[in-house]
Amino acid sequence: MVADHQKEEEYNRGVKIQMSRYTDALCKKCRREGAKLFLKGERCNTNKCAIERRNYAPGQHGKNKVKLSEYGLQLRAKQKTKTYYRVSESQFSKYYEKAFASKGVTSEVLFQYLETRLDNVTYRMGIGSSRAEARQLVGYGMLSVNGRKVDIPSYNVKVGDVIKVRDEKKENNAIKLTLEKTKSKTAPAWLELDKDKMEAKVLRLPAREEVDLDVQESLIVELYSKK
Ligand code: SF4
Repeated sequence: MVADHQKEEEYNRGVKIQMSRYTDALCKKCRREGAKLFLKGERCNTNKCAIERRNYAPGQHGKNKVKLSEYGLQLRAKQKTKTYYRVSESQFSKYYEKAFASKGVTSEVLFQYLETRLDNVTYRMGIGSSRAEARQLVGYGMLSVNGRKVDIPSYNVKVGDVIKVRDEKKENNAIKLTLEKTKSKTAPAWLELDKDKMEAKVLRLPAREEVDLDVQESLIVELYSKK
């Protein structure tokens, strides 16, 4: 088993962990969806963002407007959401199945599963300038939930949970750097954030309208209901 400090050193050396097969083509993913999905951290908020410069699909025929079929629209809605949260196809399907089996509104519950992932909550707290970076920090054991270390990015937090940077990690350079980069960022209303303490409490589950992703969730439900 790799010790915490080894993981931390690895991070501080800037060792890149491959988060997905598409690490080199993140901006193309945004261009494919025609929307900023904030996959690259700070760069996304600058005029270097590919969507600001070339807001058309990648590829030779990218500038040609294509009218999508109903299925195409449904597929794009799913892909866009999956990419935004950086989850795999199988993870996304599992969230859908759980949401569908729940008593709540499927699309609403689906987004609650995605939003309450520990990597996303960490990102919402401003710890990590992108979800990928937040995921790395969780994986390196920097966070705790209710006082217990949790290094599983897909861990779903619950109402009342307190998520914080572990005391022994508060002086970590990676943590300090990322908090400096995101200091102007505010947390959504369902999280009570204390930046000084580097912790947040889950006040309630997020509502769909609080998620800043422009996607028609009914299309996702329609797509899966055909399967
Ligand atoms: Fe690239 Fe970020 Fe802009 Fe997307 S939002 S195109 S990842 S810079």
